[in-house]
Amino acid sequence: MARSTPKKVLIVGSVALDTVKTPFGEVRDALGGAAVYSSVAASYFAPVQLVGVVGTDFPEKHLKLLLARNIDLTGLQRVPGKTFRWAGEYEYDINKRRTLSTELNVFENFRPHIPEAYRNAKYVFLANIDPELQLKVLEQVREPTLVMCDTMNFWIENKRDALLEVLKRVDIVLLNDEEARQLCNTPSLVKASRDIRALGPSVVVIKKGEHGAIMVTDGAHFSAPSYPLEEVADPTGAGDTFAGGFIGYIAATDDISEQNLRKATIYGSTLASFCVEDFSLRRLMALSPEEIVARYCEFKQIAFFEPL
Ligand code: AMP
Repeated sequence: MARSTPKKVLIVGSVALDTVKTPFGEVRDALGGAAVYSSVAASYFAPVQLVGVVGTDFPEKHLKLLLARNIDLTGLQRVPGKTFRWAGEYEYDINKRRTLSTELNVFENFRPHIPEAYRNAKYVFLANIDPELQLKVLEQVREPTLVMCDTMNFWIENKRDALLEVLKRVDIVLLNDEEARQLCNTPSLVKASRDIRALGPSVVVIKKGEHGAIMVTDGAHFSAPSYPLEEVADPTGAGDTFAGGFIGYIAATDDISEQNLRKATIYGSTLASFCVEDFSLRRLMALSPEEIVARYCEFKQIAFFEPL
């Protein structure tokens, strides 16, 4: 898949124990967190350096799984206390999610410290954390080629100024359709992506759940379909998985051209489609490069139509 030596990807975000219930099953205290989903997805393309925090209760077996995927955990702080926990429930319409609880635990006092060995990272993904912390990360990295951030409705409502500061300093922002509408106060995703680009990022990627994703760059609008899955077991982490696949592919190819960003969007969608096939990271951990390439090719077929 990669043409040149893959550059490293630095990923900062939550490492969690998730309790998730969907109409098709449930898991309790399963491995999760935005940094975990995105790191595992990115690791299929490039070496990953993870920054996050866990408590003393975080199972050793999870650390082993991440290490086995060539994810550098030097930047994972292990501190006294309980690991961040999130619980959510999905309706029969799997796009509808209800957060049942968010226990910040050790995440509450998380201050990202970027180890010296990570500071030259060329590709940086600031997963969904407090935008003030995202800014602290940017103060510690030297000369990244590309910085991408994610966010969520809570920060749009409660830390807008800090978020606007982050947006001035990133190249790509990734958000879901609801967040884009909320950030720009418009129902139109076309207008929202234009307005967000005016705030700083040259590329805006809007994820639309089971309806795919759009990527807006300077003058170009790219629509990626979603993969037509017959069964979705658990959509948790799909957005983070998309992000990891997207930036991992870009780091692997070290190419930020429009054409390559389009391929990255499809790789992101490919990885996300695997993520939702099972609970937690079960499916995502067990992929082969061949499966990824085969599904990428199917995407091409899904979106193909004859020219005039
Ligand atoms: P997604 O389904 O892509 O929105 O991501 C879900 C993941 O985000 C889960 O694994 C959660 O542990 C994690 N998560 C949920 N709420 C938060 C939060 N407030 N801050 C950071 N991570 C969170």
